[in-house]
Amino acid sequence: MSTSVMPEGAKHELTVVKHATCTFCGCVCDDIELHANSERIVETKRACILGEAWFKNHTAERLYPDALIDGKEATVDEAVEAAADILHKANMPLVYGLSNTTCEAQRQAVWLAELVGGVIDSHTSL
Ligand code: SF4
Repeated sequence: MSTSVMPEGAKHELTVVKHATCTFCGCVCDDIELHANSERIVETKRACILGEAWFKNHTAERLYPDALIDGKEATVDEAVEAAADILHKANMPLVYGLSNTTCEAQRQAVWLAELVGGVIDSHTSL
């Protein structure tokens, strides 16, 4: 549920989202209250320090192109081709990361790891 409020002295209206879910560490706290302007989240009530950092560092700004190859902008098709080539040549492909990733995307990652005979791990192993 979200509402819009205009805090005293503020220049822009804030959107307030109650009972937001944090998916950063896996505890999945679902009682977070977020306050956001048009570009970023500016307040995170009840989030721990990790959750606060996670929410506040995701903005609506577009920081990167759709795809990069060796740090250079590429089309998604080119990036998929390059990724397939890397995975095909790898001896022990590792599908890693997956925090901030939807269940649907994680399902696809598991499928991909099985397809290429690789292994899968999440950032929690750190
Ligand atoms: S608020 Fe903190 S403890 Fe809760 S899910 Fe986010 S990172 Fe984990």
